[in-house]
Amino acid sequence: MPIRTIITPDNPVLRRKAHPVRDFKNPALQRLIDDMIETMRAAPGVGLAAPQVAVSQRVAVVEYAPGSEDLPESAEPPPPKLYVIINPEITARSEEQIEGVEACLSIPGYVGNVLRHRAVTVKAFNRQGRPIKIKAQGWLARIFQHEIDHLDGVLFIDRATKVWKAQPSDVGPE
Ligand code: ZN
Repeated sequence: MPIRTIITPDNPVLRRKAHPVRDFKNPALQRLIDDMIETMRAAPGVGLAAPQVAVSQRVAVVEYAPGSEDLPESAEPPPPKLYVIINPEITARSEEQIEGVEACLSIPGYVGNVLRHRAVTVKAFNRQGRPIKIKAQGWLARIFQHEIDHLDGVLFIDRATKVWKAQPSDVGPE
C-alpha cells in the first residue's frame, strides 16, 4: 500500500468535479482506498479526498473520533473511527452554522476561518458498495463538508472569511 503524493492547486485535477464511482469491484478502487487511508495517516490528517491524490473520483476517507473535541484534555481520548465514503451526498444540514479554523493537506502552511453547518447527514456507499448513512456534528460534520467540497473542486480557501499563515497553535481538520 504505497503512500501517494498529495497535490496542490497547481495541479488542475484538484479543481475538477470528480466522477462518480460505478464499479465497486474494480481492484483499482480498492487499492486507491487503501492508499488513501495510508496517505491520510502518514500526513497526518483527519480526511483525504481522491482528487487530492490526483484521482478524479468521488471517494473520500475520514478518520476522526466523534465528539473528541468536547472532552477535557485530561480525558482518555475516544478511539478514532474510519469512514470511507463513496459518491457521498449531504442530504440534511442544520440551519445553524459555526465558524472554525480549517487547514488542508493540499494547501500546506495556511489555515482559515470557515463557516460550516453544525450538523449534516451524509448518504454514501461504503467500499463494498453498500449504502450508508452518517449523522455527524461538530468537527466530524466539518470534516465531511470539507472533503465533499473537494469532490466538486472546492477548497476551504474559497469559503474562508479569512486565511492566514499557520502558526503552531492553530489546529483544525486535515
Ligand atoms: Zn482539504
